[in-house]
Amino acid sequence: MPDTPPIEFAFPDLRKWEKGAAPYIHVLESGKPGPTVMVASLTHGNEVSGAIVVDALLGAQVKPRKGTLILSFNNIEAYHSFDPRTPFKSRLVDEDFNRVWGRLDQPATTVETRRAQVLKPFVERADLLLDLHSMHDDCVPLMLSGPLDKGVAFAKAIGTPVDIVRDAGHAAGMRMRDYGGFGDPESPKNALLIETGQHWRASSVVVAKDVTARFLVETGVVEESDLPAGWRQPTPATQRVVEVTHAIATKRGNFTAAQRFQGQDVIAKAGTVLGHDDDEPVTTPYDDCVLVMPSSSRPLRPGVTVVRLGRLT
Ligand SMILES: [Zn+2]
Repeated sequence: MPDTPPIEFAFPDLRKWEKGAAPYIHVLESGKPGPTVMVASLTHGNEVSGAIVVDALLGAQVKPRKGTLILSFNNIEAYHSFDPRTPFKSRLVDEDFNRVWGRLDQPATTVETRRAQVLKPFVERADLLLDLHSMHDDCVPLMLSGPLDKGVAFAKAIGTPVDIVRDAGHAAGMRMRDYGGFGDPESPKNALLIETGQHWRASSVVVAKDVTARFLVETGVVEESDLPAGWRQPTPATQRVVEVTHAIATKRGNFTAAQRFQGQDVIAKAGTVLGHDDDEPVTTPYDDCVLVMPSSSRPLRPGVTVVRLGRLT
């Protein structure tokens, strides 16, 4: 990492939202029948664009017209550990909050598993979930729909961003967006995860507001006029679905990229060298291979995914 990317906005003071149905979790009831809809932020503590959006929804006292709206700041402890000298560290405290959802039946021994136990009844209650994330590197926004048809259909109903990534998550552990009914093709529950862009870009806040407004209106719990003005952005002409087929992990943390990739680059020819891992070439397995969230600059640990490869469908 040559240097830390600029931080283009002020971080909100969230302590005023501590008191809720549980700490930093707010449940807004309409009193009328309807879906339970959840917007979650700070699943990773340094992914601040989502926190700005949830802070703004609470500040504007947005109320659901039907059903229930749940708003959360997930890894608030990691957020409060933010230090501008080491801004990437506040992603988590003990472990990744978004990899613990397959083992919540085990004793909670970390900040993140304890917090997940607090969030669990709210996540279980939600029929529809939007989880707001952002990215380490400057990449175009991506909607992570999960592996199921219903996730892709929901992402298309939202209508933005251009890229929908259909993926099965991470070998390291289950994500919140795949938990319970969200990961069950037979369940009507549905979840989306938006990667809004680089963590501290002003443009990531624009994307987070746009996607959240579209999500809330699509679920029917609010109308657009209930939301702060100016959140909706123009709808892109088309969207495309990228199906993730491979996750390339570095064996010992010695991966070097052949060039700097932007993310969502389409590599025309099969066999193109993407980089070397311990001097072993890593090549594209098929023509028109999409590079999903390549890590151009993060320090690598053994076993970490350096890029995921996808096929346009
Ligand atoms: Zn994240």
